[in-house]
Amino acid sequence: MIEVSQISKKYGDRIALDSISFKVEPGEVVGLLGPNGAGKSTTMKIITGFMSPSSGRVQIGGIDIFDQPLEAKRKIGYLPEIPPVYLDMHVEDYLYFVAQLKLIPKKELASHVQRALVKTQLENVRHRLIGNLSKGFRQRVGLAQAIVSNPEILILDEPTVGLDPKQVAEMRDLIRELKGKHTIILSTHILSEVEAVCDRVVIIHQGRIVAQDKIANIQALKKSNLQINLKVRNAGLTLDGLQKIRGVVQVQMLSPLFFQLTIESDQNCTDLIAEHVLKQKAGIVEISAVESQLEQMFLNLTYGQKKDNEVQP
Ligand code: ADP
Repeated sequence: MIEVSQISKKYGDRIALDSISFKVEPGEVVGLLGPNGAGKSTTMKIITGFMSPSSGRVQIGGIDIFDQPLEAKRKIGYLPEIPPVYLDMHVEDYLYFVAQLKLIPKKELASHVQRALVKTQLENVRHRLIGNLSKGFRQRVGLAQAIVSNPEILILDEPTVGLDPKQVAEMRDLIRELKGKHTIILSTHILSEVEAVCDRVVIIHQGRIVAQDKIANIQALKKSNLQINLKVRNAGLTLDGLQKIRGVVQVQMLSPLFFQLTIESDQNCTDLIAEHVLKQKAGIVEISAVESQLEQMFLNLTYGQKKDNEVQP
């Protein structure tokens, strides 16, 4: 288990983290989600013992990372934002080098390196120079060095940043593949990444945790009902008329030309809504699904304030 208790970090006068606390249970995959500058990398550097906090403590499987750094760090594999790879080394030699640094017994070195190469699908490039690999492959080498000692815990800082869409999909597959075998914390500013690979999300903004929940809870909310925006050209639609459409749970009239409908997502009732609008000769301007609950929550929590400021003259 990872236990982060009231971690704060100041860089000079600047407060980067303000009393952050959260727990990660064994085997969980937790996404640390937040916009750039939120404090994700700082949190990860502190959890991995690479940086000390101004106050607070971190326990890794009951061991304090600052009191017993060697024991705690032995349990952790860390992929920093910029993978710590040596460009002039060959992939396999580099992994042997890292495995030795992590004090893997000599007779187990080969099996550890082989496992990391297989898991990250690097077998075909094991003899290539890291400097000659694409960014996606270098990122995999970064992941391979994190898992080479087969640590209980993996801390992955923005593992897909800068990758092209195919490489992103491959990296997500790799992380899913590691699920269940490791406890994982990954940071990202991309919502879909959290939904794709995590069990739980911790949303961080301006150095504070603003929300945390299981992805399943968020998805359950999202699945049970859908929000639809309906904009029409001519007034005349009635709440009563819209409410009678099969699958419509609730209707709000924001103006005579703008409605928000809650519909059951297992009923494909957008066709029925469109039919009704046309029959009433109201004219469809827009019929669209509102952002997912997670997107809404994330935007409100993190960008909400900024948006308000932006509309000020
Ligand atoms: P994220 O990983 O979410 O983008 P960071 O943890 O890198 O955020 O940064 C959090 C805040 O701390 C930001 O405002 C950033 O500018 C600041 N910061 C990060 N590293 C340093 C540093 N070494 N010196 C001064 N300020 C820093």
